[in-house]
Amino acid sequence: MREAECDIHLVPFEEAKGCRYCLRFLEAPPDPNLMTPAMRLEELEQWLTARPSVPEHLLYARIEQLLGRRLSIHELDDPDLLLRRAQRPRRDPASDYWFDP
Ligand SMILES: [Zn+2]
Repeated sequence: MREAECDIHLVPFEEAKGCRYCLRFLEAPPDPNLMTPAMRLEELEQWLTARPSVPEHLLYARIEQLLGRRLSIHELDDPDLLLRRAQRPRRDPASDYWFDP
């Protein structure tokens, strides 16, 4: 079993499982539509700069929520560019199909 430490919560976690605090956060994360742009950017930066502490699909899903659009995996190669792009105005959330029930 490989252990890592969560950069956000500073606790050790099993790499295969992920940080339980991060996982708990992602079970009921704040609605990006109710967050200010600054809050979204701050959280986005946190996920992009911290060592991955949750399974990739959960991480990507949350990043997409914060971006309000689909993420191309290669965009993760350049977090700075991704953060700059994220500062642009968001599209109307109503047009983002994955927010629809
Ligand atoms: Zn954590």
